[in-house]
Amino acid sequence: MTPPPPATDLTIDSTWMQEVLLELLRIPSPTGRTDVIMQHVGERLEEIGLSFELTRRGALVARLEGAQPGVPLDRAVVVHTDTIGCMVTALKDDGRLAVTQIGTHSSRFSEGTRVSIFTDDPDRTYTGTILPTKASGHAFGDEIDTHPHGWEHVEVRVDEKVHSRGDLQDLGIQVGDHVAQTAYPVITRSGFVTSRHLDDKAGVAAALAAFKAVVDSGAPLEVGAHLLITIAEEVGHGASSGLDHDVAEMVSVDSAVVAPGQHSTETGVTIAMQDLHGPFDYHLSRRLHALGRAHGLEVNRDVFRYYRSDVAAALEAGAETRAALIGFGVDATHGHERTHLDAVMATARLIALYLQTPLTFGTWDAEPKGPLERFPSSAVQPVRREPELDPESDELVENEPFPELEEELGGLHPPPPRAERGRGAAGPE
Ligand SMILES: [Zn+2]
Repeated sequence: MTPPPPATDLTIDSTWMQEVLLELLRIPSPTGRTDVIMQHVGERLEEIGLSFELTRRGALVARLEGAQPGVPLDRAVVVHTDTIGCMVTALKDDGRLAVTQIGTHSSRFSEGTRVSIFTDDPDRTYTGTILPTKASGHAFGDEIDTHPHGWEHVEVRVDEKVHSRGDLQDLGIQVGDHVAQTAYPVITRSGFVTSRHLDDKAGVAAALAAFKAVVDSGAPLEVGAHLLITIAEEVGHGASSGLDHDVAEMVSVDSAVVAPGQHSTETGVTIAMQDLHGPFDYHLSRRLHALGRAHGLEVNRDVFRYYRSDVAAALEAGAETRAALIGFGVDATHGHERTHLDAVMATARLIALYLQTPLTFGTWDAEPKGPLERFPSSAVQPVRREPELDPESDELVENEPFPELEEELGGLHPPPPRAERGRGAAGPE
């Protein structure tokens, strides 16, 4: 098992983290309409004392400097402020609005959801409700139970006296206006957080709290870190831009899927081993898992089948970096979401621990390229070779299973004599 790197489990300011979480949840930020929330994130970064810049497209990159001046900022923690949402596709003749999704989510989880409709005029925002086009049993009888799901089968009822397309136009509503599902965040007495859009606002709150803990503690850092806050993750662009070329490791923080067949929990932090786009970095993922376990966190390993994150966007864009994904467990993702404060706290603690660690392979990862002989491989990712088969013989003839391992360890762990192997004594002690 990967040994955990040294780090101190720092105290996270739980009250501050909850305050930030509720503040972020109450600011609508569907993809494409994230300018306001970024103002608030920027104010929180100023409060922590981190310098930052905005990219041309509006993503934010903060800097957590290492202890020594000139320490490279070789790692990045990545979160996103944008959320799923809707957009007006048509102004209907009866005064209702047709909408489609921004990001990927089912209309069935928005039936009955309150929304805000944002026009181009900042002073003219309206409220409404997303309803099935057959919304009353008194009018449609059993048809309401067989009414299909899908964005073409729902509409927005605007809370204004509108009965025609013209009435909607008079309000200033146009095709292409953003419609945001109201989050309605609640923290229950038992510590559960019920809200839309915990994805990824709980991740932003956890990351900000972790960076704050590291700054407040004055913990010496061997490696500085960027905090990259992206604004178009839900539509797939994510961290495709904004990552510095010197970043050797990135850890994306996003929701972890709690559902039957998954291993994530609403009270824990998950290390994602693979998602729809393939496995995450072998070494970095296992280090994060070992780090969490060593400090008593509720840490789970999980595999996500229908899932994409900032990591995929960054790697597709050509980022030459190790990449991992960690997440707070969320039940009913992209629907009526719920997590527990314990999960957000575990995530913040793991981020704070991670920020104090050296790079996974300090000397190798420090440079973007290097020679084959310095490439860390067999000692940390051993592969047992397939046996050679002699078709003329009755027995299998096996290769030495770990020749590179012996070489890299410099004979520190010589394999036991061949005679002992049959008794299960093979491998380094
Ligand atoms: Zn997300």
